[in-house]
Amino acid sequence: MAERTVSGTWSVVITGEQWALLHGHLFPGDGDEHGAILRCGIAESSRGARLLVHDVVPAVDGIDYIEGQRGYRKLTAEFVAENIGMCAEQGLAYLAVHNHGGQDRVGFSRTDMASHERGYPALLDINAGVPVGALVFAENAVAGDIWTSDGERHTVIDLRVAGRPHLTLTPELIIAPMSDPTYDRQARIFGDRGQTILGGSKVAVVGLGGIGSLIGEYLARLGVGELVFIDPDRIDPTNLPRVVGARRFDAWSPLQSDTRPRWMQRLGARLATPKVKIAARAARQASKTVRITQVRRSVVDSDVAMLLTDCDHIFLAADSALARRLVNSVTHQYLIPNTQVGSKVTVIDDTIADIFSVVRMSSPGSGCLQCNELIPAWRLTEEATSEVQRHRQRYVDDENIHAPSVITLNAVAASRAVDDWLMAIGGLTDSAVSADHWVAYHPLTDEVIEHEPAKSPDCRHCGPFRFAMGDKRSLLARP
Ligand SMILES: [Zn+2]
Ligand SMILES: [Zn+2]
Repeated sequence: MAERTVSGTWSVVITGEQWALLHGHLFPGDGDEHGAILRCGIAESSRGARLLVHDVVPAVDGIDYIEGQRGYRKLTAEFVAENIGMCAEQGLAYLAVHNHGGQDRVGFSRTDMASHERGYPALLDINAGVPVGALVFAENAVAGDIWTSDGERHTVIDLRVAGRPHLTLTPELIIAPMSDPTYDRQARIFGDRGQTILGGSKVAVVGLGGIGSLIGEYLARLGVGELVFIDPDRIDPTNLPRVVGARRFDAWSPLQSDTRPRWMQRLGARLATPKVKIAARAARQASKTVRITQVRRSVVDSDVAMLLTDCDHIFLAADSALARRLVNSVTHQYLIPNTQVGSKVTVIDDTIADIFSVVRMSSPGSGCLQCNELIPAWRLTEEATSEVQRHRQRYVDDENIHAPSVITLNAVAASRAVDDWLMAIGGLTDSAVSADHWVAYHPLTDEVIEHEPAKSPDCRHCGPFRFAMGDKRSLLARP
């Protein structure tokens, strides 16, 4: 890598499925030492650098992982050569993995460190300067030693499992500090540990309309530490029945009334408060410590899209196929789970045909919105071509503004979305619950329909081309 602007921390991120594979391989119950190699994409941001596990390659005992002359066991030269070759080809970081005994604390032995010093300068060279290094595991702990082309070595502060089960491993067990008494009632559910996770989380909400404003409110009240609000629009008088935190004055309703001349309606629309500002105001009323980034732009602009790439979770409450495509790809490229939320009322010939709200939580690596045909190509084309046109007319006659909608329906979706995420990060979700289940609620028939997303292996979003590649691929955003 040419330049390194990040001097911060190093973390490793892995999916639930990969974690089960790796942990099962290292700790099959025989108490012995085992090995593996991880090939990783890299994501760098002001929060630090993350190694995103692209592949877990278990070393077969006795074939790839054998008795060593210096240490107890080692990866064979052939196994290392094959994997560093693949890393070099794909521009991925290389991590050699083994385990020690013990539970909650781990560190490299002197022999381990000596072998890094003998081997890693050459590996770094073969890998064209893309980082190489090692991780050592105990059952509930991990330590790491990462080598970068600037000659620096970095310790790994943690390994996080993205999605379910929500796990964070560190070199030694960290006791969570007592949480702020304000949060006493919910800390009785999620523990001080859960509250600490909430306080350390950075969460994006894309779309701050009916559903997104509720999500923003919930997240702020829960004590989430950092929020990123993204929405290009200003409030409209017809939003007042649904956008929480909006005041009558925000919408300049008297100017925007239908009886006013067009120019006055336009002026009202221009003076109206941006939705992100309303959401930020509501969040600050709920929490004095929350940090908020407000972006009054479209999420599909590439510099705005980049803001999503170091969040811990993304709530997508914007009804646009372009936004769906972007967020979906970020989830799999950067290993950041997302929840897509929406509610819809279908009217056919002036009759309500169906009402439903839908919540789709997606973990990286599992079936995505793209392979489940929820990002139709015709809508992408339509949105891309009509965007300029729509932008001109947005305030007066955007059809979305006049689509049927009600706060209660939005609240069902928003609550469910945040609740699913909360239970997962609080570690309370039953282990039998699959990582991803998509839920649709139909109040007219009182039905709740769940389904598990399918996954197509060659998907351009969740498949190998983009999966865990981090900064190596460009985002599906507007340049
Ligand atoms: Zn060791
Ligand atoms: Zn997919």
